[in-house]
Amino acid sequence: MPEAESHLTLNNYTPVGDLVTVAICLVMLLLIAFSYTRKTPAFRVFMAIIPCLVLSALLNVSCNMIAASTGASVLVYTLRCLFHAVLFSVFFLFTLYIAKVTRLEKNAARTVLFISSFLWVGIVTADVIASFRSLAETGPGGKLGSSGLIFALGHLLFTSICIILLTTVRHRLYKRVMFGFYTSVAFSIIVLLMQGALSGGSSFTVSTFLFPVVAMFYIMHANPYDAETGTIDASGLADVVRYYYEKKKSFIFLSLYLPVFSGEGKEMPESIRALIRKFAVEFFRGALIFQLSNGHLLLLFRKNRNPDFEHRIGKILSAFKDYHRVYQYDYKIIIGESIDQISKKNEYTSFLRNIHRKMPINTIHRISPDDIVGFEHSDYILSQLEDIHNRHNLSDKRILVYCQPVYNVRTGRYDTAEALMRMQLEELGIVFPDQFIYLAEDNGYIHTLTEIILHKTCEEIRRLNNEGYSISRISVNVSMLELKNDRFCEDISNIISDSGIPGDKVAIELTESQNESEFDTMKSKITELKDKGIKFYLDDFGTGYSNMERIIELPFDIIKFDRSLVVASSSNQRSEKIVHNMASLFSDLNYPVLFEGVENETDETLCRNMSASYLQGYKFSRPIPIADLRRFLDRKDKAV
Ligand code: C2E
Ligand code: CA
Ligand code: CA
Repeated sequence: MPEAESHLTLNNYTPVGDLVTVAICLVMLLLIAFSYTRKTPAFRVFMAIIPCLVLSALLNVSCNMIAASTGASVLVYTLRCLFHAVLFSVFFLFTLYIAKVTRLEKNAARTVLFISSFLWVGIVTADVIASFRSLAETGPGGKLGSSGLIFALGHLLFTSICIILLTTVRHRLYKRVMFGFYTSVAFSIIVLLMQGALSGGSSFTVSTFLFPVVAMFYIMHANPYDAETGTIDASGLADVVRYYYEKKKSFIFLSLYLPVFSGEGKEMPESIRALIRKFAVEFFRGALIFQLSNGHLLLLFRKNRNPDFEHRIGKILSAFKDYHRVYQYDYKIIIGESIDQISKKNEYTSFLRNIHRKMPINTIHRISPDDIVGFEHSDYILSQLEDIHNRHNLSDKRILVYCQPVYNVRTGRYDTAEALMRMQLEELGIVFPDQFIYLAEDNGYIHTLTEIILHKTCEEIRRLNNEGYSISRISVNVSMLELKNDRFCEDISNIISDSGIPGDKVAIELTESQNESEFDTMKSKITELKDKGIKFYLDDFGTGYSNMERIIELPFDIIKFDRSLVVASSSNQRSEKIVHNMASLFSDLNYPVLFEGVENETDETLCRNMSASYLQGYKFSRPIPIADLRRFLDRKDKAV
């Protein structure tokens, strides 16, 4: 820059770039305050970057303005050094941000922190020394010495760190995210060079730094709103819960579950979506709505911002009831306040699902301490299931085999039985299937449980045979989900042949499936295992949408009529007629019919009159430990 130039046009600086930067930062802060922003762990670092940008822009403006009127001075140099220090803090935070976003391991993150701190201290010190050397040379009131070299060097070094860091962790980031980061860094370098060229290497504004920050904001924290309903997906809930838990902010939630829309690809109708939009804006301040799964919405708001929330919940419920009167969709509503134990583990989705299981349809449930205990129990059961699955010990002591003897109408003897699983857990004692089968199914452990119960059942059959008891077979329940496993048939036949008993001593109980592809899988697996002698029962007939044509296509050995059919037949004549006809139809087609849930004499008489081949229920015996089955086999003639 020529010596003659007045210090009033010093360094060609204009404050426009810096002031625009401040304005954009303020817009970002407003967006963060008034809309949903993804508050991931990296968000805290991001929130530190914005004020740094604003501060450095303001420092740059004031430094240049004062310098333009007074020339160099201790104040001007101090302001400039502060400006640089804060600006390099933005860089420093940016490297930490990348480390957080890419979930760098502790040691690697520490190295990044160390190198960045070292660089920051080095550059800031060099800047301070250079500045005051210039001041000593020119004296106060003189021209402000250029800081271009140190500034550019600092920029270059920090940019290199960011690029190296991004390159080493590139496999952890989604390609487009990487692209966003790289372009923003490239743009900031281009703008920096342009500013340098235009000002003769002496004037820079904070605007260069805006690109990476805007890119981060957009890529990493942009809101995933559904534009129509304003809902956010389940991962958004995890972010919000984590954030509120860390900040110790309590919140209230209202969960709405509409089972009809819970299927795959199902969408709520416009009437409900309109209602939800209304809920969000009209009833609560700052409410967020999450779509946790199809048919399951969660409305969440801060307790402090809505002190009259009880009154408003009353309003929302009455609005919903008006809606329900017209549309009649079945619902389950849960209302509660943030719970530390659940927030800490970030498990609201499974917590709510756990409650849905126990809730009757069309009810409103308020969270109680019992729900939390219940959820902790299922958490414990799940951890035990995981352990059982991982150990894969077919004799695992935690799995018990109970058995319910089945009465054979033709022979008047108990020669078959159904194996029913129980868990024996240190902290809970005996646990029933309704508390763990669904957990095992949802988490992929069910096949291991089947292997264990099948192994234990086969071992017991072998012992009974050796002791001279006559037992035709014991049936074991298998979940539809397991059939999809490629190793299913192999695992089952290996366990049976390892125990040395014939295949026909074992039966597998399956429930009906509506699904086309499941039907084909079922057919091929049944056919394959039937070749080994294994028998098949159709379980719970009458609970699904039974398709006779389909059932007859499958080579079942026995059809089990669900207890609900027994109950229906005893309650009215019409039902009795229908059930009677169905049972006769199966018998005529040579499918023996087994009635489940025969609780008393009346049930028994009814079932005997309806072509029953087998009877099972509390009337004959409750499920008992499998070893006690001997009582029934021994006393077969007296048992009726
Ligand atoms: P399920 O296969 O329909 O088994 C019959 C259920 O009805 C058993 O409940 C049995 O105790 C109960 N029950 C028996 N007689 C009567 C009666 O007279 N009246 C009434 N009201 N109920 C009766 P449990 O043992 O609690 O098992 C519940 C369900 O859990 C079973 O229904 C089955 O779906 C599942 N389950 C049990 N063990 C296993 C297993 O080893 N593997 C799999 N995948 N599922 C199992
Ligand atoms: Ca069964
Ligand atoms: Ca059943």
